[in-house]
Amino acid sequence: MAVIISLLLLTVAVSSSLATPQRQTYRAKIPCIDNGRFYRNPNSEKSLRWSKKICGEYYLCIEEEVFPFRCSTGLMFDIQRQICDRKAVVDNCDVMTEVTTPRPLLNTDEPICRTGETACSDGSCLPTELFCDGFADCFDGSDEGWCDAEHDPNAAPACDMYNCTLPDCFCSSDGTLIPGGLNPSDVPQMITITFDDAVNDENWDLYQNRLFPKTALNPNGCPIHGTFFISHQYTNYAQVQKLSNQGHEIAVHSITHRGPERWWGTNATIEDWFDEMVGQANIINRFGGVDMEDIRGVRVPFLSVGWNRQFLMMREFGFVYDSSMAAPVSDPPIWPYTLDYKMPHKCLGDRRCPSRSFPGIWELPLNQITMEEFSCAMVDSCPPYFSENELYEIFMNNFGRHYNTNRAPLGLYFHTLWFKGESGRKNRRAFRRFLDEMIKRPDVWIVNNWELIQWMREPTPQSEMGSFSKWSTCAETVPLEKQACNIPRVCKLKSRELRKERYMYTCMECPQTYPWIKNEFGLEF
Ligand SMILES: [Zn+2]
Repeated sequence: MAVIISLLLLTVAVSSSLATPQRQTYRAKIPCIDNGRFYRNPNSEKSLRWSKKICGEYYLCIEEEVFPFRCSTGLMFDIQRQICDRKAVVDNCDVMTEVTTPRPLLNTDEPICRTGETACSDGSCLPTELFCDGFADCFDGSDEGWCDAEHDPNAAPACDMYNCTLPDCFCSSDGTLIPGGLNPSDVPQMITITFDDAVNDENWDLYQNRLFPKTALNPNGCPIHGTFFISHQYTNYAQVQKLSNQGHEIAVHSITHRGPERWWGTNATIEDWFDEMVGQANIINRFGGVDMEDIRGVRVPFLSVGWNRQFLMMREFGFVYDSSMAAPVSDPPIWPYTLDYKMPHKCLGDRRCPSRSFPGIWELPLNQITMEEFSCAMVDSCPPYFSENELYEIFMNNFGRHYNTNRAPLGLYFHTLWFKGESGRKNRRAFRRFLDEMIKRPDVWIVNNWELIQWMREPTPQSEMGSFSKWSTCAETVPLEKQACNIPRVCKLKSRELRKERYMYTCMECPQTYPWIKNEFGLEF
């Protein structure tokens, strides 16, 4: 959306300012920075730079001519992303020009360096393993300047199907191949439903009574399951424990869910990744009673995937999968894959997907949902104005794109807000109708992400799914000591970081202070 706005502005503003004599005055006031990128006025008044007016003004210089632009009302210009966006996510009003790290010399006609070495931007040679390892080694940092999957000299190689075999490795060149060589008609059609952010009274009724009622069963007679990516603030951990008892999957979405969005992809260090994700796993384990080995998945806030650093953390800690990477719209859609080899689809937008190989770590990519001419990774980021009947048709059409082609799992990714308020009612009805239709079908299964991965590791034809033991967990009862309590403790806790008091609900002992990064057990110092 923001990209479209700025492109529109470009055409409108360029043509209008060409026609007016105004440009001469601009040229006098605003210096020309001719690098093909938008920039801010370096002579602007320092004290006003964070104002909406000044931060919404930006310039482009083409052949000594300076063209002025202005974001739509209320928006500010993000110099790094080169787009207009909401104030809350623009964190660089005081940066005048886009900061770009110089690039290494990768594609020269004659090799500059010896085998095993690669050239910095100035032609000096360093060992290739120092490139794109997250630490600057060239004098100008150019070894870290071009590190996507196409240009990292240590990037994961393209899929090699002969050396990549299940259960621990799965890849195909374009990502659309069915695992186990099954025919599409033999594949159980999986649907995954996920929710992000806090679990609490705001959404409890939705989860318990409307979306996952005890009566909604898969073809094997076990209840349908979802995956919940939990962030810490406002989460009720007694309810988390109950969800886990019911067979839903509990996964992590960070402790702080902090902004700005770009922080996760560009600034977060490996230590930050540990603090946020392993920290949240610890909180869920301690206060939600979920076993550590049952916490397997990560989704990054804002889907702002964290390049290799995120996956280094995941490998060290032992997370099994990430589900933060949106794939471009594709028909047929993309199957999940492991990160042993190069990812089979483009990294969407300005996201920072991993470039290195991370053997055995699964990626559950977000195939986008299409709604008329729109497409979106999270259902709630598509336009809200569709009627109940239109939405039902939209869900059925998206289902068809999976079911009638390669039967890649259909992921439906939500925030609870989509089900709330005035438009939430028709959304809820449409989705309930869709779910009821799906539950009737003998070859459609609504499973959580971990159940999906277990099937991927052991592809089993639909005809044998009735006895697929990994999905028959409802036969087991939850041991008494793991069952959530009926009356949780209400812990009234001070949070130094938030400078507030917070209530935290748990079946476990109350901590001394509100848990937060670097103090996930809430100890008082
Ligand atoms: Zn979130």
